[in-house]
Amino acid sequence: MDLQLAAAQAAFRDDVRAFLRERLPGELRERVRLGLRPSREQVVQWQRALHERGWAAPHWPREFGGADLGQMERLILMDELQLAPAPLPLHFNVTMLGPVLLKYGTPEQKRDWLPRLARLDVWFCQGFSEPGAGSDLASLRTSARHEGEHYVVNGQKTWTTYAHMADWIFLLVRTDPQAARKQEGISFLLVDLKTPGITIRPIHTIDGEHHLNEVFFDDVKVPVANRVGDENKGWDVTKSLLGSERTGLAYVGMSRDRLDRAIELARNTRDGARRVIDDPAIQAEIAWIDAELRGLEVTNLRLLLCAQAQRDNPAFASVLKLKGVEIQQQVASLMLRIAGPAALARSEDERGVPATRYFFTRASSIYGGTTEVQKDVLAKAVLG
Ligand SMILES: Cc1cc2nc3c(=O)[nH]c(=O)nc-3n(C[C@H](O)[C@H](O)[C@H](O)COP(=O)(O)OP(=O)(O)OC[C@H]3O[C@@H](n4cnc5c(N)ncnc54)[C@H](O)[C@@H]3O)c2cc1C
Repeated sequence: MDLQLAAAQAAFRDDVRAFLRERLPGELRERVRLGLRPSREQVVQWQRALHERGWAAPHWPREFGGADLGQMERLILMDELQLAPAPLPLHFNVTMLGPVLLKYGTPEQKRDWLPRLARLDVWFCQGFSEPGAGSDLASLRTSARHEGEHYVVNGQKTWTTYAHMADWIFLLVRTDPQAARKQEGISFLLVDLKTPGITIRPIHTIDGEHHLNEVFFDDVKVPVANRVGDENKGWDVTKSLLGSERTGLAYVGMSRDRLDRAIELARNTRDGARRVIDDPAIQAEIAWIDAELRGLEVTNLRLLLCAQAQRDNPAFASVLKLKGVEIQQQVASLMLRIAGPAALARSEDERGVPATRYFFTRASSIYGGTTEVQKDVLAKAVLG
């Protein structure tokens, strides 16, 4: 397979690189490089800079703030952002909710929401998982009673990433508890997190950070106009959203950037008399991960070139998610081994990062569909 970019694609990549050199603030680049979380303000300002160029939601139509980019250009853009490294456009707005609104939203919902999602004027989080409904999402119990012009929502969501930073939440609720199948009777609502009756509590994770939350709903009134798709047909909306969630999770550019940094760290770290990079076991591990990463890169391209109907096959998304996560975890383990005990220093510099990142990366085989569930999807696709 010829991995050379066509002339127009190479020119596009150079445009992206020039844009990043000019517009990506040095301090933001450094925070991402060190694996530290940028502030909300930094993320918003950066997404606005991307938006001015049409690159915040590159695959959306221009009329809603996108750039109508083709699959290949979008891949190049995402790779270059990860290699810079720069924050990616907010996944919840751009990769998850945006495509759902494009497919299922009313003309008013598209007009009202899409430009604001692209510019990050409003920050969404994802309210799907509940205690007892994660992999088996259709078992969710948060209820929404239809009363006139409103739904009245009661229940609990959990593991809600960035709920404490978000303005709104897209929420799966049960609108028909009597439905014959549990996938029926679910609806998809957009909810303002400032609505009375909502309580957000932090969940602190093993990396010592606050990314996650529990969100409680106690008689929360949500206008019926905030429903996306038909009542009780939210499962169709969810399937389409989860497909796009998995496509975004290969993170080839990010793993490449982190592998390069692991090599740099191995060159600058000593283990007794020798540099860590001179250890043959470390060299073999680097070579192995590098080969795996190249394999993933080619697979990503191969899937991209398949006909659209093929690309929509959930098994393809599962391959990318599975392998992407495996490599992210391998790089994080390698980094930890290279850094040695210094990895445990909790400081806002290079030394504290490997352990923090290692712990967070463990979660990547859980969110967006666990590894076991991805393997189930693949087994069904391959074995029938
Ligand atoms: C860091 C992080 C961020 C997250 N962010 C969000 C968010 O923003 N919004 C949101 O809604 N959710 C979020 N989640 C939740 C995430 O989607 C769920 O954790 C995930 O779907 C797994 O569900 P669960 O935790 O209930 O585990 P379970 O579904 O209870 O799974 C427990 C174990 O059983 C295995 N298992 C389950 N079913 C099967 C099966 N059929 N075959 C084989 N093995 C199986 C699983 O692989 C897992 O190992 C986040 C999770 C994490 C860790």
